[in-house]
Amino acid sequence: MNNLELKNRDLDVIWHPCTQMKDHEVLPLIAIKKAHGIYLEDFDGNKYIDGISSWWVNMFGHTNKYINDKIKEQLDTLEHVILAGFTHEQVVRLSERLVKLTPKDLDKCFYSDNGSSAVEVALKMSYHAHLNDGNTNKNVFVSLKNSYHGETIGALSVGDVELYKDTYKPLLLKTIQTSTPKDMSISSAIQAARDFETLCKNKANTISAIILEPLIQGAGYMHMYHPEFLVKIRQICTKYNVHLIADEVMVGFGRTGELFACEVAGISPDFIVLSKGLTGGYLPLSVVLTSNEIYAKFYCDYNEHKAFLHSHSYTGNALACAAANATLDIFENDNIIEKNKLTAQYMGKKLEKFKNLKNVDTIRQTGMICVVALKGYEPEQRIGLKVYQYCLNHGVLLRPLGHIIYFMPPYIINEDEIDKMMDTAYDAINSLLSQS
Ligand SMILES: *Cc1c(COP(=O)(O)O)cnc(C)c1O
Repeated sequence: MNNLELKNRDLDVIWHPCTQMKDHEVLPLIAIKKAHGIYLEDFDGNKYIDGISSWWVNMFGHTNKYINDKIKEQLDTLEHVILAGFTHEQVVRLSERLVKLTPKDLDKCFYSDNGSSAVEVALKMSYHAHLNDGNTNKNVFVSLKNSYHGETIGALSVGDVELYKDTYKPLLLKTIQTSTPKDMSISSAIQAARDFETLCKNKANTISAIILEPLIQGAGYMHMYHPEFLVKIRQICTKYNVHLIADEVMVGFGRTGELFACEVAGISPDFIVLSKGLTGGYLPLSVVLTSNEIYAKFYCDYNEHKAFLHSHSYTGNALACAAANATLDIFENDNIIEKNKLTAQYMGKKLEKFKNLKNVDTIRQTGMICVVALKGYEPEQRIGLKVYQYCLNHGVLLRPLGHIIYFMPPYIINEDEIDKMMDTAYDAINSLLSQS
């Protein structure tokens, strides 16, 4: 078996995500044979540093021995059981831990199997909680401009990235987009929060919730903002009886420097949505946590018809929960959040150098995510794709968002590997200068 053979068999039968398939007439499709630590290895023996944690999910490397062992143990005990009317040890332990670890007043866990469906769980719960309160008019959701919350129809409705949304507009729910702080300054944060307050003054009686990605809008070109924005939004939500849904699908589990991004701002949302890093990047699992207060609004005699009758077949899958418990063990045992602070500092120092390049507009960083924004290119030039290809040819997987080059490696990356990853990107961006 080699790359080419597998590529041809693949293209006969597989339709890949987020891909114009015709691109693969010229672009390589890389068949990965195995992976270990931060390295992916293809069928021709080439190795690649996984600089984007395999689409933002991997935390502690591929085929991590500890997580592998825990999943194997679970596999011979219980692989899955229906979670309605039944429970199991892994899901109970995981829920107890999440309730402890997340910001205060997030007391109950509701499981699903991917970020988008968990976002929709939170939206439905929010609307339904108001309804159970006798509030029939609160049926509009607010989100931020340039936000991303997934791609199922409900999740896409609260998103605002044209590339994914525009085609499907006729199918989507009506939602309102409010201002995102335009940069990382505190003044932009305050200004954007003011726009939300104005919106609430006029329409709060129809608004169920605001959903946002705390601190970093991931698929929205890694746009970052000041934590003060979250502080202000929390105050406004409380004042106007609007729920705050924190979509920490990407930023959760240490990406921003704290275990959860809401902690950076010292706030508690009414709902927190977690997925990607939850299982260390091993298995699909997502969860929505909310307060006992909201939970209580659904708790009554069956015939009052207030229950949350939402379900997914694989809710609370035991193998996925075992992977999640193993992931949390590593956070605890290896003091990861503290270690990440040093790793982030090192990445930040390396990032400075990019400012010397004439085609670099700005650099920015929040915790374990570093960004280099390029300037002077048209979208048609697909400049990100050129960086992607250059880096692949030099053993590094990065997947720029348009002209935004970003680094989001697994936490176990060491300094030499950071050098290799970021120096390769530097050379890639530098090489663009001599091409034009
Ligand atoms: C990836 C992502 C989602 C969607 O998660 P999926 O598992 O891909 O459905 C939702 N919100 C944010 C912030 C994300 O980054």
